[in-house]
Amino acid sequence: MTLPFFFDFNLSELVKHPVFADQPDYRAMQVWQQVYTKLKFDPMQINNVPLELRRKMKDAFDFEPVTVAQKVSGEGNQAEKIAFNLSDGAKIETVLMRYTERNTICISTQVGCGMGCVFCATGQMGFTRNLETAEIVGQVMYFAKILREEGSALTNIVIMGMGEPFVNYDAVLKSIDILNDPDGFQFGERRITISTVGIVPMIEKFTLAKRQINLAVSLHAPTNAIRDKILPINKTYPIEKLLIACNDYAKYTKRRISFEYALIDGVNDSLEDATQLAHLLKGMLCHVNLIPLNPTRNYGGKGTKSDHVKAFYSTLTRAGIPCSIRISRGVEIGAGCGQLVNKA
Ligand code: SAH
Ligand code: SF4
Repeated sequence: MTLPFFFDFNLSELVKHPVFADQPDYRAMQVWQQVYTKLKFDPMQINNVPLELRRKMKDAFDFEPVTVAQKVSGEGNQAEKIAFNLSDGAKIETVLMRYTERNTICISTQVGCGMGCVFCATGQMGFTRNLETAEIVGQVMYFAKILREEGSALTNIVIMGMGEPFVNYDAVLKSIDILNDPDGFQFGERRITISTVGIVPMIEKFTLAKRQINLAVSLHAPTNAIRDKILPINKTYPIEKLLIACNDYAKYTKRRISFEYALIDGVNDSLEDATQLAHLLKGMLCHVNLIPLNPTRNYGGKGTKSDHVKAFYSTLTRAGIPCSIRISRGVEIGAGCGQLVNKA
């Protein structure tokens, strides 16, 4: 019999679980706090509750939705990629990036992805399934514990790993709620960023939810002609519709939106493209992240050379568009943006 994953439950669901039926009201809360503040993922270690209950929990919940299959570290340990096994044998990848004052993890939300962006290794493998809430929370708990044991802490979560989070909206939002629970992990929405390829109705839904989570949108082109070729979703939600949704988001939430722009040599990186991009974004509360494209096996395009990246950057900046150049960490270990795959 397969057991339900502990990390699938939010606190109000946990309270109603049958293992707590004959227990005082505060018991589920005690367990919740031990799991999410002390990071005890073996119920036998939750030693402020009766032994009998610890045994029952051991038989009632699975605390390991993700288990380490492989670890790869990049130069100077700055990026570390973990391949996790899931209970059905599927694999996902999660990346930890260590900076001087931050530890950021990049987590996955699906096995594969059905959006088919041509330059993305995850897109190239196609869609297998959505991750469950527990599999998303489990990735975070794994790294939270590793960092805690090192005397450090997780500071940021970017939902930019494998998969399109807005195709798995409910599980993603429930995971965030579990991670932010004030009696538990208390992570804080402002330290979480969701990146979407631009599923317009879900951006609208997210806007209305008025969350404090940061939103990033993968724009990558200033015209439909270019975007159609690299992001097939553009045929369903073209740039003009996408930008209306983004503008509404910025206006309604008063939160700055980030646009991701992977610079591909000769495809979307002319200075005319930069000027057109500036024109599109003029007046919006936004920021552009320029990322030279990382190599993937099934796409021949090359990342823009650094001098030209700077010229593109200057063109945008001069036109009044706030932007920055992001260099992917972990490219040498296949842990950079868009390089995550389900390798056996
Ligand atoms: N599905 C979401 C989040 C995961 S991808 C999305 O597409 O936004 C995270 C980011 O990596 C996206 O901006 C995506 O366009 C970008 N990306 C994908 N492949 C890349 C590559 N080869 N080089 C650089 N960025 C890439
Ligand atoms: Fe999916 Fe994002 Fe990759 Fe596109 S870039 S295929 S949406 S993971």
